[in-house]
Amino acid sequence: MRRKEQRPQIRSIMVPVDFSSYSNQAVNYAAMIAKKFKTGIMLVHVIDSLSYSVTDTARVIEHRRALETIAGTLLDNLRKQLREKNLKVKTYLVSGTPYREILKKTQLEKVDLIVMGTHGRTGVEHLLLGSVAERVVRLSPCPVLTVRLSSGSRRG
Ligand code: AMP
Repeated sequence: MRRKEQRPQIRSIMVPVDFSSYSNQAVNYAAMIAKKFKTGIMLVHVIDSLSYSVTDTARVIEHRRALETIAGTLLDNLRKQLREKNLKVKTYLVSGTPYREILKKTQLEKVDLIVMGTHGRTGVEHLLLGSVAERVVRLSPCPVLTVRLSSGSRRG
């Protein structure tokens, strides 16, 4: 007997954001798709904890707090912009290794589609994908849409 194939569904979309022009463009695409599928968007930013693991001095902690404050504000701004388009938005600010945290959230929140930039702030444009994007594409359990910039709007 032939098994009935399950139709893929898009009920939850996640956008990992690093606040670069690439991830802003990914947010635009995600908004368009979310409207079409009448679903919400999750924005996730990961504060990279790698550089803080060895020496946790007071200055490092202070620096980290500043990063959290800035990232929190930028996430809030994105949330407001999307809510103005009548989209439901959740934001997550986490610490850790970016690709690992993105994949953890994907599983935990049962994400159906990830939309992210081909590149980000780390600036390796000669490669097809940046290192976070490459790992997420390779290891994600759900489809990943990678968004590039048009030639007129590179970097930011
Ligand atoms: P990269 O692979 O670092 O060049 O970045 C590619 C894309 O991965 C970016 O456009 C973002 O969508 C996402 N990304 C990179 N770093 C982070 C981060 N720290 N937190 C969340 N998403 C990120």
